[in-house]
Amino acid sequence: MMDTFENTLAFAQQCDQSDELNCYQQQFLFPKHKGQPVIYFTGNSLGLQPKIAQDYVNEVMQTWADYAVDGHFHTENPWWSYHERLASPVAKIVGALPEEITVMNTLTVNLHLLMVSFYKPTVQRFKIICEEKAFPSDQYMLNSQFRFHGFDPKEALIEVKKRAGETFWRTEDILQTIETHKNELALVFIGGVNYYNGQVFDMKTITEAGHKAGAFVGWDLAHAAGNIKLNLHDWGVDFAAWCSYKYMNSGPGNASGVFVHQKYLGKKDISRFEGWWGHDKPTRFLMEPEFIPMPNADAWQLSNASILSLAPYLASLQLFEKAGMDALIEKSKNLTAYLEFILKQTHDYQTFFELITPEERGCQLSLLIKKNGRKVFAYLSQNGVVTDWREPGVIRLAPTPFYCSFEQMFRFGEIFRAAVKEIG
Ligand SMILES: *Cc1c(COP(=O)(O)O)cnc(C)c1O
Repeated sequence: MMDTFENTLAFAQQCDQSDELNCYQQQFLFPKHKGQPVIYFTGNSLGLQPKIAQDYVNEVMQTWADYAVDGHFHTENPWWSYHERLASPVAKIVGALPEEITVMNTLTVNLHLLMVSFYKPTVQRFKIICEEKAFPSDQYMLNSQFRFHGFDPKEALIEVKKRAGETFWRTEDILQTIETHKNELALVFIGGVNYYNGQVFDMKTITEAGHKAGAFVGWDLAHAAGNIKLNLHDWGVDFAAWCSYKYMNSGPGNASGVFVHQKYLGKKDISRFEGWWGHDKPTRFLMEPEFIPMPNADAWQLSNASILSLAPYLASLQLFEKAGMDALIEKSKNLTAYLEFILKQTHDYQTFFELITPEERGCQLSLLIKKNGRKVFAYLSQNGVVTDWREPGVIRLAPTPFYCSFEQMFRFGEIFRAAVKEIG
């Protein structure tokens, strides 16, 4: 980690020169503003397109044209096992064994499917702990699960709140909530990185505490996968799921990844919704009525895979394989620290914004703009900076290490200070 930053173009360019991942910027397609690539801070929402993605999609289209149904089995990369090519690179990104990973469907769909296995409420144990104001889809998912099982969401959902006047959750408050409800707790389910303030939760400690209370522990890793260091297997997490179109650059609405811990694999007696793609591969096409599960997380698959969506995802994973998650995280820490430094070069910045992201963070910084936030947001976008806006006054900035540079952070600083001068 660098400790002395300078707010100069020369310093930023020097950082880029000594950054071994700088070359990856060339591997992505940037939207343009007045003929120049934008500064793209919304990789936490939709990652940029890797240039090689198109080739992977074209290959599938060509196979379909040339081989049609034979594309399933009789080609170099047959479709019936195409999804298996994603398990190992995804496992490295999230700290799992390849057999603990499967890629399918989309995130909210997968969370519902995982609830079938890991939300097993009884009259005594039916509560779920999550963070207050979880991502809306997660709230809808949990509430509809409660109703499906005949429980009242108001009684069954325990939300851990932030303390008055604070902008982040305290681990001790989560542990205390688990302790308080330990006899009624079925599941702890939290977003591993909060989408709003960018906070990284202490997943290891919380997972341990949930287990000690006799509950399952699962994580929504939409903002964590491809962003921060994860060790899902070693932490003993029961299950997790994430989307791939944010930090994993797989394309809009693309497939979700699922982690199921090794201890649940190869089991016939686990409750699970099943389909033919989860059936043991060697005997799948005997079309027998009895379901024999795949020995790995693929047992949770239902349908034959969406090959056209897996193709650009696989392309993106090649870049992760080459760059390596550890190197990406190292750069992410430096780049995010530099962005924070740059933001704080704004004259009298405390009167203008509050950084609501705590120290425990990935690459996202969330700024609560105290005045005229929407105008600042508009000014940035009119000047080639893509950020996003969350009510009531938050601008989120995610300098993703794959395609953001130190020079861009410097240039952003100039635009940001101009915005403050004009609007703040
Ligand atoms: C982005 C995001 C989602 C999106 O869900 P989809 O099913 O992919 O539309 C869900 N949960 C969280 C926490 C997210 O950040």
